[in-house]
Amino acid sequence: MQATVDCKRCSARILPEHLDLDRGIAHCASCGAVFSLEATLDAAVTPGMDIRRSESGLSLTRRWYLPRHWLLMLLALVWNGFFLLWLARTPGFDPLLRLMAGVNLGFGFILFYGALVFLVNRTSIEVDSGRLRLRHGPFPWRRGLSVEIAQIDQLYCSERLVRRRGRAFPVYQVNIFLNNGERRLLLREIYDVNQALYVENQIERFLGIQDRPILGEVKK
Ligand SMILES: [Zn+2]
Repeated sequence: MQATVDCKRCSARILPEHLDLDRGIAHCASCGAVFSLEATLDAAVTPGMDIRRSESGLSLTRRWYLPRHWLLMLLALVWNGFFLLWLARTPGFDPLLRLMAGVNLGFGFILFYGALVFLVNRTSIEVDSGRLRLRHGPFPWRRGLSVEIAQIDQLYCSERLVRRRGRAFPVYQVNIFLNNGERRLLLREIYDVNQALYVENQIERFLGIQDRPILGEVKK
């Protein structure tokens, strides 16, 4: 008897080298999905995340804050300070110079707003028996999401590689697959695969979505 694993999302056969049995994780080379081989996941340590479950619903809040976002804020403050000072100290009215300063201050404002959003914002997901709602706030940023529970086919995590300082490492996101075949993004930029899988697992369990049978057995 030999266990085989098919992708939860696209049903492609997972090659043995893409099974991480130590961590209980499978990676699909066909569609990029990542999924857990365990039936239940431990309550993973989820820094920056708060998951509450009640009779009537499930609520999840995730902070966007990362210590490195302070660097972005510092850059924004230095950038804006420099151009404001330059504008204040430049005598006379040279329209071209003022236009240049205005453009740079405009960019500086976008930088400042971005830094503020990444320091303060949270994503909240509320699931009840009728709908799943996702919001980003308190500062306006990307659009939220509201889907009927009946529209949700399944949830899955996917993986992609990002390069930072010459090093490639995986980041994960949690997605919803709808009955009409469309995909919606729930959470992105998750650096710990267990955190992504835990979120997927919690929402699926609340909704009573069965993980597709992925562990099959074929007789030799
Ligand atoms: Zn797949």
